[in-house]
This record gives sequence, C-alpha cells and structure tokens, in this order.
Amino acid sequence: MKIIYLLKYGELMLKKKNKKFFEDMVIKNCLAILREHKIKKIKLFGRFLLEAEVENEAEKDIITHKLSTRIFGITSVSPGNVIDTDYKKISEECIKQAEIVINTENPVTFKVDVNRPFKNVEMTSIEYAGELGGDILDKFPHLKVKLKNPDMTIFVEILQDFTIVYSKKYNCLRGLPVGSSGKVGLLLSGGIDSPVAGYLAQKRGCYLNCIYFHSPPHTSQKAKDKVFELAKKLLGYQSHIRIFTVNFTETQLMFKKHTDEQYFLVLGRRMMMRIANEIARKYEFKALITGENLGQVSSQTLENLHCINSVAELPVLRPLLTYDKEETIEIARKIGTFDISILPYDDCCTLFLPPNPNTRSKVYNLEKEESKLDYQKIVKKAVETVEIIDL
Ligand code: ATP
Ligand code: MG
Repeated sequence: MKIIYLLKYGELMLKKKNKKFFEDMVIKNCLAILREHKIKKIKLFGRFLLEAEVENEAEKDIITHKLSTRIFGITSVSPGNVIDTDYKKISEECIKQAEIVINTENPVTFKVDVNRPFKNVEMTSIEYAGELGGDILDKFPHLKVKLKNPDMTIFVEILQDFTIVYSKKYNCLRGLPVGSSGKVGLLLSGGIDSPVAGYLAQKRGCYLNCIYFHSPPHTSQKAKDKVFELAKKLLGYQSHIRIFTVNFTETQLMFKKHTDEQYFLVLGRRMMMRIANEIARKYEFKALITGENLGQVSSQTLENLHCINSVAELPVLRPLLTYDKEETIEIARKIGTFDISILPYDDCCTLFLPPNPNTRSKVYNLEKEESKLDYQKIVKKAVETVEIIDL
C-alpha cells in the first residue's frame, strides 16, 4: 500500500536564504536512513513529502519511527493515506481514520483541519472542514466539535494530484540536518560522554568521523570493539561513518619514561589533540569534538582545558561542557550508548594514570616536558599508521 509521510521543517530553516541547501540535505539523509524501504521523494510547493510503498501497517510504523528518531532537521512527521481528490472518497477516509482514533483513544472532542494550497477545489478550506466534520458527526454522534485543542484532529491536505488524510503528528528530533555544518572529527573513547557529544554535534549538522586512540596490548580488542559498537549507534543518524584508530602505545610509553608523571594525563591529551588535528587537516574536517566537561575529572579544569586547547589549530567543540553527568546519562540511555559505555574495558588514558595528576597545569611546564621528546615525529608516525575503517 502507498503511504505518504508529510514532514515539517523547523521554522528557523524556512527563514534562511539557503533553504534549498537544507532541504536537499534532509531529503538525502531520509533516503539514506530509509534505504531498506521503497521510498520516493515528492516535493511540492511548501511541503515535503516522502512516498513509501509499504507491505503492511508494521512497515508503515517502522518508517514513522525511523523518521521521528533518526533524522535531524525536521520537527514532525505525519503518515497519511493518499486518495483521489474526490469529496466522497475524502469523507470516507476521514471517517475511517476517525474510527481508528476513537477505538484506540476514545476522544470526546474533535475538529477537521483542511488545507488546499492550490485552491483547486471550489469550497473554501473552512467550508470543506465543516462538511467533513458533519459527516464524522453523523457517523459518531457522541463527538463534539472543538476548534481549540480538541482530543482528535483529522488533517486533510488537498494537493494538486491527490489528497492526503492523516490524524497523527509525531515529534521529531529538530536540530539541523547532518552534514549541513560540514565534516568533523569526534574523539571517541569508550566512555559515556564522547558518544553523547557526537550525537549532539550531529544534532547541529555535523557529519561525524571518529578518532579513537588505543594502546594495544595494554588495551584489549574488546575495548576497541566497544568503541566500534558506539560508533555504530551514531551511524543511526548519518549514512556512513569512518573510524580512524590511532595506535597510542609507543607515545604513552615514551611519555611515561621521559616525563614528569604529574603531567601525564594532560600531556597525553595534548598529543591526542595534535594527532587529531593532523588527521582533521588531511581529511578536511572543520572542527574537533570531545566529550570534555568542566570540572568532571582532573584533566578537565579550566587550566588543563586551556593547556589541551592551546595545541589545537581547529576549533574544539565540547557539547557537554556544562552538562551534569545525569543529563548526559539521560541522553546516553535514549540513544542506546549507555549500556555499551559501561562495559568494563580499559581506555588508554586510564592505563598509566598517576596517583596525583596535576589539576592546574601550566603550558610552559608542559612544553618543557615535551621538549624532552621529538613529539612532531610521534605525531607524523601516528598519522601515517592510522587504521581507517568505514562502517
Ligand atoms: P568519556 O566518557 O567520553 O571517555 P570522560 O568524562 O571519561 O569522557 P576523559 O576520559 O578524560 O573524560 O576524556 C575526555 C575526552 O577526551 C573524551 O570525551 C574524548 O572525547 C577524548 N578521549 C579520551 N580518551 C580517548 C580515546 N582513547 N580515544 C579518543 N578520544 C578520547
Ligand atoms: Mg573516559
């Protein structure tokens, strides 16, 4: 059967001059996320419709669910039935849909909302709604018409070649379409925070590439698998995802051997930033994203964040900077990363953690430590040997 999904954009996007750019991006993302279904796009004046040939009601609901939980840049989705623009048929469809809502939700009040953007029927929208409302009342006399906040609304969109009738509007994720802000590099660890930071960056239009640092054999294959599982969750919101895995063992051992251990964590973070920056430059990412938060752990004081930031050439975005852990966990649960993140595999940073890391590092102290090593050579080698996997 043929189902039409009526999608609404955020108000903000409609006002921008580059509306077409955003629209095309949303459509591309919808088609990618719905690639297992038979979908066609239909674009009409002021409306954005997807047409699906579905096998059954279950498939119809799956598509609705995907559109409402995996596409950024739209505010609502309404699955509707397509009929000829013929009063009798439209009336029958309205009654059919009202009956479904009555059986499931027992509404008392209702209204019919008619739109005819092409003015291709003689009656006005209000007259049309009045007639259709009358037909529904004849069939279900216990209902009452209420124009403001009724329990049930039957929507009728009379378009050029056909009419759509629907009764439900499902909220979507809003935000900006993934890709509209460009490509970024997400520093993805196996923790709770960085996948959530990635999701929030996607919400503002960033197309993610993941950069993961591991230290085999000190970190296990399971730790790596876990990061890939997290990346797969983020893949739910964009068409592909590329993971850059950087071998960090040698770097960490070298720092461990030659530098003051109180700075170990921040020195490691600075190396991560430098390497991520080089990867970003090579693959034209516009920014780096981290799950860093202000004050959560010892490496995340303003002083230490400054030291980490000062080696980054690109903007480093920290979507979780001001979040409480509970707020982050709530999102992690919603996007399905929490249960993966809490699996107990070591991250490379926790491996050589000193007992008393410095919480107020100074750039000049760190530079002094770094001058003991040829860190540029380390960065170069890390970038050259990075393992790239496309999901
Ligand atoms: P997360 O839960 O994301 O690991 P966290 O609160 O545990 O964050 P840290 O472990 O100090 O904090 O890491 C801060 C940020 O540094 C992470 O959010 C991530 O962006 C980056 N990061 C840390 N370890 C790695 C790693 N092994 N590979 C890639 N990025 C990392
Ligand atoms: Mg961590």
